[in-house]
Amino acid sequence: MAQSSKRKKNLNDSADGPVTAHQYFCSCNNPVNDNDHALACDGYERWYLIGCLNMSVEIFQAFGILAKGKVHTNWLCPACVVNSSVEKVSTRCLQILLSRVDTIEHSINGIKQQLELTIENLEREKRKKI
Ligand SMILES: [Zn+2]
Ligand SMILES: [Zn+2]
Repeated sequence: MAQSSKRKKNLNDSADGPVTAHQYFCSCNNPVNDNDHALACDGYERWYLIGCLNMSVEIFQAFGILAKGKVHTNWLCPACVVNSSVEKVSTRCLQILLSRVDTIEHSINGIKQQLELTIENLEREKRKKI
């Protein structure tokens, strides 16, 4: 097969329509079929059969459950994990995380202010007693 398709078959876009068999290949050059247990790397869009990853069927199915629940899953193959030029966190994940950090920082500042007030009051009480 000379034609190579770069179209991504992600766990998240199941609405992408049926994918023709033998379109994707594992890192070991074996074809990845629709009924095979395989994961697409989010780093370099390469497919990996779970047998080639030593991944259990249970873990693979957990990824499927997350994808069905529209939970964003980001999976990187072992090669991309050690590749420093690959972004480890997807932009979407990063945005969600950053907005959560903002919320947490805001709450922490509120707690800090309350704590400072409490400490001030306590110090004042202490001074009164002396
Ligand atoms: Zn393989
Ligand atoms: Zn990869």
